[in-house]
Amino acid sequence: MYAFKQFGSKYVLSIDNHQEISAALAAFCREKDIRCGAVYGLGAINKATFRFLDPATKKYVDKTFEEQMEITNLTGNISRKDGEVYLHLHITASRRDYSCIGGHLLSAVLSGACELVVESFDGEIGRRFDPETGLNLYDL
Ligand code: FE
Repeated sequence: MYAFKQFGSKYVLSIDNHQEISAALAAFCREKDIRCGAVYGLGAINKATFRFLDPATKKYVDKTFEEQMEITNLTGNISRKDGEVYLHLHITASRRDYSCIGGHLLSAVLSGACELVVESFDGEIGRRFDPETGLNLYDL
């Protein structure tokens, strides 16, 4: 599903082609028991679902794109909610015409490479639901 190399508290992670990125990253965090951290990277995908949170309804509006795209940036954080790995990922991806789209990342299927740096912090951060925003905010 992935290959990795550890450098102190950081990992270089290469996810295998055709994998779904958020699922592979969550599996990696479970394997390494990462409870708090940060992630950034790049790659290429051919199917992805992005989310947009509408503050008026506090609901996510999802849209799926099925086309080859470069991940010009993927950034996010790792925490825990109810004892499970909780990823918060945002993505910007470029299309064949070099325009970019992006949003909160729900899922993305790799088509090429996906090269990430994962930093593991020494500790744990949980999440709590915030009724005002409709978000699962950091519980610091
Ligand atoms: Fe988000």
